Amino acid sequence: MNLLALARSAIPKRPDGRPEAAANDHLRRIATPAESTELMVLIQSVLAGSPDEWPEVHRIAVADPESALICFQARAAAAAPPPPDRFALPTCQQCGNLTRNGRCLAAGRGELPYVASKNYSPTSEKGRRCEGFLPQPGDADQRPGMERWPNIDAAPKDRI
Ligand code: SF4
Repeated sequence: MNLLALARSAIPKRPDGRPEAAANDHLRRIATPAESTELMVLIQSVLAGSPDEWPEVHRIAVADPESALICFQARAAAAAPPPPDRFALPTCQQCGNLTRNGRCLAAGRGELPYVASKNYSPTSEKGRRCEGFLPQPGDADQRPGMERWPNIDAAPKDRI
C-alpha cells in the first residue's frame, strides 16, 4: 500500500470525497505534543520498514490527530504478534543444547537415556518435555529440564 495513502486514510472523507479535515478547516486543531509523539511512535511501528516515509506520514497525521491516532493504534494492534503461550512446552529450537548445525549437545554427552546416537539431530519442531532442556540466557524461566519435569517418563517414542 502507498504509505501516504495509508496516512491519508486516517482522515475521514465526506460523501463528496473531500477530506473532512479540509472541509472543516475552521474546526481543525493541530496535535498536542503528546499526540505528536504518540503518532510518531505508532508510525515507526506500523511502517517499520520505511523510515524515509516517517516525516511525511507524520506531517499528514498531525493535521488530524484524533482520526490518525485511531487509525494507527488499530494498525499497530493488528500487527502486534500474539502473546506467547506461557504453558506451551519448549521446542528443541529454544534449547541451549541445540547447536547451530542442529546437533543436540546433551545427546552427544550421553545425557539423554532414550537417545543412543551421539550425533542426534532432533527434527521435530513440536514442544516437548526433555530432561536435557537448557534455557537460553534471556528466557523468563531459567529452570533446566530436570527441574521442570522431575518425574519425566523413561523414553516414550514421541519425545524423540
Ligand atoms: S530439548 Fe532435549 S533433545 Fe532437544 S536439543 Fe534440548 S536437550 Fe536436545
